Amino acid sequence: MLFKGIAAAGGVATGKALIWADSRFVQPPALSPEDIQGELDRFEAAIRQTRQQLEALHQKLEKEVGRKEAEVFTAHLLFLEDPALVGRVRQEAANQRKKIEAVLPEVIRELAGKLAAVNDPYLQARAADVEDVGRRLLRALAVADGAVLTSGWDELASSVEPRVVVAGDLGPSETVEMPREKVLALATARGGPNSHMAILARAMGIPAVVGAGEEILEAVGSHDEIIVDGDAGLVIVRPGAEELREYRQKARAAGDAAHRRAASGLERLEAVTLDGRRVDLAVNIAGASEAKAAAASGGAAGVGLFRTEFLYLGKESPPGEEEQFKVYRRVVELMAPHRVIIRTLDVGGDKAISYLGISREENPFLGWRGIRFCLEQPALFKTQLRAILRAGSFGKVGLMFPMVTAVEEVRRGKALVREAITELRAQDVPFDEEVEIGAMVETPAAAVIADVLAAEVDFLSIGTNDLTQYVTAADRGNGKVAALADHFHPAVLRLIRGVVEAAHRAGIWVGMCGEMAGDVMATPLLLGLGLDELSMALPAVLPVKQAIRATNFRQAQELAGAVPGLGTAAEVRRLLAGRQH
Ligand code: PEP
Ligand code: MG
Repeated sequence: MLFKGIAAAGGVATGKALIWADSRFVQPPALSPEDIQGELDRFEAAIRQTRQQLEALHQKLEKEVGRKEAEVFTAHLLFLEDPALVGRVRQEAANQRKKIEAVLPEVIRELAGKLAAVNDPYLQARAADVEDVGRRLLRALAVADGAVLTSGWDELASSVEPRVVVAGDLGPSETVEMPREKVLALATARGGPNSHMAILARAMGIPAVVGAGEEILEAVGSHDEIIVDGDAGLVIVRPGAEELREYRQKARAAGDAAHRRAASGLERLEAVTLDGRRVDLAVNIAGASEAKAAAASGGAAGVGLFRTEFLYLGKESPPGEEEQFKVYRRVVELMAPHRVIIRTLDVGGDKAISYLGISREENPFLGWRGIRFCLEQPALFKTQLRAILRAGSFGKVGLMFPMVTAVEEVRRGKALVREAITELRAQDVPFDEEVEIGAMVETPAAAVIADVLAAEVDFLSIGTNDLTQYVTAADRGNGKVAALADHFHPAVLRLIRGVVEAAHRAGIWVGMCGEMAGDVMATPLLLGLGLDELSMALPAVLPVKQAIRATNFRQAQELAGAVPGLGTAAEVRRLLAGRQH
């Protein structure tokens, strides 16, 4: 059975399927009348347990971050006494003679839906809180029953052989917790090619197809043989013997090509065009393990984007200064003597973190995210800035603000950096005064005022994932509009051209850290447009280096002069594809 989805991370893999736990719902059995009291007692115990956890979290957050930030748990605690939640659950379980797990999710869904629909931002914000409380209660019930279930990955973690994971969709925090050595490939029903799941899959070198359609969840059974073709965007469930043989051969050939590239010594060669134009190649990472892999492979000259929000995901409270400092220092030491650009917390959008008080929003990608959030949480923000500045004394560090739309945001961010510097100096803590400060250009507003931003910073870095979604008005995580969110849209290319020119006029360097930087089809065009640094997922580094070494810079400049003038992304793609043959 063949499913056509969207190619999200290249490569092919074949293996036995595993249905990601949270994409299935198992209906617990009905209860006999005499069990009902026992069931209600179980629920009371789970509420007690959850209350204790929330009170502890409240105290911790108040101590480490501040009273205001800790208030999010006050709202959580109130739900544990709310008749609309706990009262309703008791009533439904008793009336329908069902286990708590069978009624709780529906009550939560209804309540969250009602809150989200109210025309009051405070109440809307409570929708995510009630969902969080619901998950906590379910976990407490499972743990009380002796389950050691801690995440949707438990089944995979205990599987002997690696599997092909099939899921409805995976959020960034779920992807980051994935036991990657056990995952042969990913196939999801929903999602777009520039969702954070897809970005992480590419960084890990795991073939992935997204947006394969809801039917795939019905069609695949656990342990079914399945093929994921991450180059063509195909998923084949229960393939025939001939298909299987063909794909196993393809997987072997791809492995051999990667091996040949690694053996060719390319990683030690410079990223320089045939006529001598040099470009910095860097990697995008989400933690120290990726820096370790990048340092071991030796193909890149530094980190162009460290997505630090992954340090904050999958936890119950934010990482403190020491914890962050240790990770940043390790990354900086691993990459030395090369530079590491650490992006400040880019939370919000598809990376909601409930303990930070970021609740469900109608339009999260147009909402409270990135620098907007951090500027309103100065204590939390300064903790991170201090950790980054301190890591700077162990190597070369750049600090970069995400989601900038206005120059005041950069100025206010820099003012907080200065405050952090003053504090560190007063405390005699070593740090680097020379840390470069940059801004991401990932909103149309930032691209259009790139000249104004360039006057305030040491560098600019273009984030094409967000820039493309905002310019084309096509959600990067929605497979249905994935074809519209094309970074080759001439509107995106014209903005990139303008940003590079503005940066160079101001005498600063400009890089690109969106996924376009790792797209080999774009390499000659990006060189010709004049980007100084390209930062990408590690597996893309050698193919891009190979493309750079086969490019003539003068010809690339001619190409860059013509391409943004074309009318459609399809025309751009045709022209670039024609050059590759
Ligand atoms: C981008 O938007 O291009 C980017 C690099 O940031 P992220 O993908 O983390 O949003
Ligand atoms: Mg972004």
